[in-house]
Amino acid sequence: MSSSHIAQHLEEVRQRIAKAAASASRDGASVKLLAVSKTFPAEDVRAAFEAGQRAFGENYVQEGVAKITALSDLRSELEWHFIGPLQSNKTKVVAEHFDWVQSVDRLKIAQRLSDQRPPGAPPLNVCLQVNVSGEESKSGVEPAEAASLAHQIAALPGLRLRGLMAIPEPAATLEAQRAPHARLSALMDALCADGLELDTLSIGMSADLEAAVLESATMVRIGTAIFGARDYSH
Ligand SMILES: *Cc1c(COP(=O)(O)O)cnc(C)c1O
Repeated sequence: MSSSHIAQHLEEVRQRIAKAAASASRDGASVKLLAVSKTFPAEDVRAAFEAGQRAFGENYVQEGVAKITALSDLRSELEWHFIGPLQSNKTKVVAEHFDWVQSVDRLKIAQRLSDQRPPGAPPLNVCLQVNVSGEESKSGVEPAEAASLAHQIAALPGLRLRGLMAIPEPAATLEAQRAPHARLSALMDALCADGLELDTLSIGMSADLEAAVLESATMVRIGTAIFGARDYSH
């Protein structure tokens, strides 16, 4: 996509966030925009950067690291989030290259990320991915198990537990979209009341951004609405 299209789409997404925040009587600045650049080339990330975007999300380790490397001239200004499924044989390269991992759902993965964070680097920011929709989704800790896992992760020295992330099942109406987001938001409140210092509720994608902002999202992860439809054919 041309850089002017990316800039225009970014502006439209910022306006959607601002409008949703206003209707929830929230400050739009309290919702951070993560641009999900998976499947799109480094030049598209650079175009978004030039349009003011700083935080980017990637789902695939190899692709993400290749893009981070290609954009190493911007490294100090960019914030890279790993948001995809993570296997234990890939934790080292993720701990070495990314600033955040939002898809932690097992203690073993968290321990490896903590151990493999390079000495001298700031703690890796992590979110606990929670399975709020139930059903067949394989990723995410069950809500009933989230508190104990969150406390264990919060104690790991190489990590900083920032909050919760979820990918609810797609739903057609605003009300249906709000329900799983509301469950995650309530879980976050419960964990904070339980003594954890969390500041990140990562919910909302291109199709349900408004519902997420209404349910207290502090970060929305937007791909399609910025970069266009993804092509997985190659
Ligand atoms: C791909 C992806 C997104 C972005 O989805 P869009 O519908 O394209 O906005 C957000 N979060 C995660 C975890 C993803 O894998």
